Amino acid sequence: MWHGRAGAISLTFDDGMRSHLDAAIPLLDERGLKGTFYLVAREIAGGHPTLEDFRPALESGHELGNHTIHHPCSCANEVQSQPIIHGCLEEMTLEDMAAELDEADLRFREVFPEVERWGFAYPCYNTFVGRGGGRQSYVPLVAERFAYARAGGEMSKSYNSPPLMDLHCLYSWKCENRSAADMISLVERTIEAGAWSVMIFHGIEEGHLPVDREAFRGLLDYLDAHRDDVRTAPAIEVAGEAGSNPRS
Ligand SMILES: [Zn+2]
Repeated sequence: MWHGRAGAISLTFDDGMRSHLDAAIPLLDERGLKGTFYLVAREIAGGHPTLEDFRPALESGHELGNHTIHHPCSCANEVQSQPIIHGCLEEMTLEDMAAELDEADLRFREVFPEVERWGFAYPCYNTFVGRGGGRQSYVPLVAERFAYARAGGEMSKSYNSPPLMDLHCLYSWKCENRSAADMISLVERTIEAGAWSVMIFHGIEEGHLPVDREAFRGLLDYLDAHRDDVRTAPAIEVAGEAGSNPRS
């Protein structure tokens, strides 16, 4: 059980987008729900929000998480065409990745010194560096540095069940282009399984991988109305509870 509820949901938002500030956070706050916002630790041109723009969210109880500086993804990944991408994983070594993680961590701790424990989201859900016979997992580097980390997963069965789950390679659900009914059915399956699901959002009717604003609102209304069945909380809170005392 999750604080007396059958299941747990964490709502996570990637890449520090404008619609997180303008749409997601107000809709969450209206319902007293808190999310997790994985930010890229460098300034991005073109009206992209700054790290400081997310300070009010932190101060009102949302979680801010580390999503690297350069957002390295697979060289073969089509998201390489996005402007926030720099470098690519097949060309990187574990030393390169350690430097990337440490540089980002330093930057986040400079801007948000009050945050002691940080979570991480793997850019593009990729957890490796190198290619072919030289390919290696960078999950161990993340485990040394972060309280937990969110990876990817299949839609059909990607919740996390303590105590067997890996806190540094959590499965997650991608919610882009999903209807409210789709997302609610995911929540219902999570409750039935007695598990924890991490839902991933990018833009709310904005940019790449968007979700419809009304669909998102429908999900939040469901979570709000079913608080007795499902605990909705930032990933770092659920990870701390799941890691220390499973299902208490
Ligand atoms: Zn991302």
